[in-house]
Amino acid sequence: MKTYNSTDKTQLTEHFNVSEFRCKCGGGHSILLDTELVNKLEKLHKALKCSKIIVNSGYRCSKHDKNVGGNGSGQHTKGTAADIVCYDKSGKKISSKIVCCAAQDIGFGGIANIDSTYTATHVDVRSVRWYGNEVNGANYSIPNDSFYTYYGLSKKDVYGSGTIEVTVIADGTVYTGEIHEK
Ligand SMILES: [Zn+2]
Ligand SMILES: [Zn+2]
Repeated sequence: MKTYNSTDKTQLTEHFNVSEFRCKCGGGHSILLDTELVNKLEKLHKALKCSKIIVNSGYRCSKHDKNVGGNGSGQHTKGTAADIVCYDKSGKKISSKIVCCAAQDIGFGGIANIDSTYTATHVDVRSVRWYGNEVNGANYSIPNDSFYTYYGLSKKDVYGSGTIEVTVIADGTVYTGEIHEK
């Protein structure tokens, strides 16, 4: 867990900057942020081959959390949560059904779809697992702890055909290519 100044613009990973997690209350206070959250978001970015992930809400002070419908002491106030929208390489929003499955594989503790259009996803790094779907209420837990079963998706639905980029060096020449899974 780290604390950053409200104006901090440190690039934390390849795709995430401290400023993206700033509280939206406009109060100019410091930002609490869990390193594990950011590292897992970076993994999610790579796993889904995103063009970008927009953080709609990262850290929230207690007051702001209450203003947006929270109880003032939830995961966002601990710096362990983010509400995100993922975009694919063509710039289209990735369904939160897919994002939930990938987030489950990466090992986020708390995961939930949070809007009726299935485009926004809440992820956090709490220790006791909670998988939800807020369309069915804020405290609705999905059965069997599997988004794959719940949404009827396969690994192929989530990750595509499984293209792997490879680099081979032979006789001093570097070859790059792709292996396609059948
Ligand atoms: Zn605030
Ligand atoms: Zn959230």
